Amino acid sequence: MLSNILNLPSYIVTNIDETEHDYHINVETKTPPKNCQNCNSDNLVGFGRNEQLIRDLQIHGKRVGIYVDTRRYQCRSCNKTFYERLPNVDGKRMMTSRLVESVGKQSVQRPFSHIAEEIGINEMTVKNVFNDYINELEKAVRFETPQWMGIDEIHIIKKPRCVVSNIEHNTVVNVLRDRNKKTVIDYLSKLKGRELVKCVTMDMWEPYKDAVRVVMPQSTIVIDKFHVVRMANVCLETVRKDIRSGLTVKQRRGLMHDRFILLKRESKLERLDRISLESWTKNYPALGAAYRAKEDFFAIYDAVETQEAVDLFRQWKAGLDEEIKDAFYPLTRAVNNWMPEIMAYFEHPVTNAYTESLNNLIRVMNRLGRGYSFEALRAKILFTEGVAKTKKPKFQRPAREESSSTYNGFTSFSKMGPSTISEERELNFGADISTLVRLIEEGRI
Ligand SMILES: [Zn+2]
Repeated sequence: MLSNILNLPSYIVTNIDETEHDYHINVETKTPPKNCQNCNSDNLVGFGRNEQLIRDLQIHGKRVGIYVDTRRYQCRSCNKTFYERLPNVDGKRMMTSRLVESVGKQSVQRPFSHIAEEIGINEMTVKNVFNDYINELEKAVRFETPQWMGIDEIHIIKKPRCVVSNIEHNTVVNVLRDRNKKTVIDYLSKLKGRELVKCVTMDMWEPYKDAVRVVMPQSTIVIDKFHVVRMANVCLETVRKDIRSGLTVKQRRGLMHDRFILLKRESKLERLDRISLESWTKNYPALGAAYRAKEDFFAIYDAVETQEAVDLFRQWKAGLDEEIKDAFYPLTRAVNNWMPEIMAYFEHPVTNAYTESLNNLIRVMNRLGRGYSFEALRAKILFTEGVAKTKKPKFQRPAREESSSTYNGFTSFSKMGPSTISEERELNFGADISTLVRLIEEGRI
């Protein structure tokens, strides 16, 4: 009865104390060593004992401490002394192996402090277990290098980080600590198959462009439409705020819902919206001009080919009303600086589905965060069970033996024979963005 409680057959339970929150369990090993760990001689004598406290999984909702009466020996042949090795105990820390495994899995799901309290260990230990667990995962899990890569900014714990995604599969393949050129170069230069990356879509951030030019010069850099047109909205806002700031309270009343209406696309305007817009244009010509400039800029994206877009942009820039030129300068400058990359969009348009999922991810991101480090959040995004988008190999009789291992639901092949063709392993495209967003919204990550 006593021995059953731990379900560790290598130990004999000698005593159990139960308190309100904890179990204190005394044990000794069932089979003491017969040979010297140094010279293998069987001429051993006892050399005292030492009690060691080993933490284990909870039992019946209570924390568990296992007190092992560890034997020490001296070898009569070589004179060395040693403690017996403890089975099922993690060599690096005073915890059972099964507890270390469980803490590792949980550390991706819950704050370290909660786990520490629940098990009765300190938070630093949880952090160390987490680090080991993530390192193992990083070694075991390999995400396919996207042929069409996205590099975007996302705020995690109040800092802009760099999210690397697979645009064709709508997945995240990495999250980098910051968006510095060096960080991006370090990451890209270690990527397997980086020479096969065809397109990289990014926001207009110079260090990304520099990094991609250095490491993957064969790829085409594309600025997503979304990043460009939203600047047109920002410029329009500048004009609107500027006009409002010079008005009296009474005059401002005449501009009811101005922001809402002005940001609407022309085709979406209701009859009343149009009436308001017409009267504002009459009273504040700059506002009308700004709305026109915003709409005409959006219309550049209706172009069906690059040259048409280039022409439309030139016309647009030349036709900008003097009064709003300053307000729209950030946009004209950006397009001038990023002309080839912005125009590459017309050859390689990014799907709305991708842009939308990325924006959804950015939107829900701040729901993560409390009590987590950046590393923990990154691991949640990349390694939460069930988010990986994988593709199983075709069902076919294996031609040769190969060994595979499953780690946390991810399958990896540890030894691939030289003739193993790539189709034979399971492909992992990264963390599916829609699944991530759903799990975050449901509070499950
Ligand atoms: Zn010995």
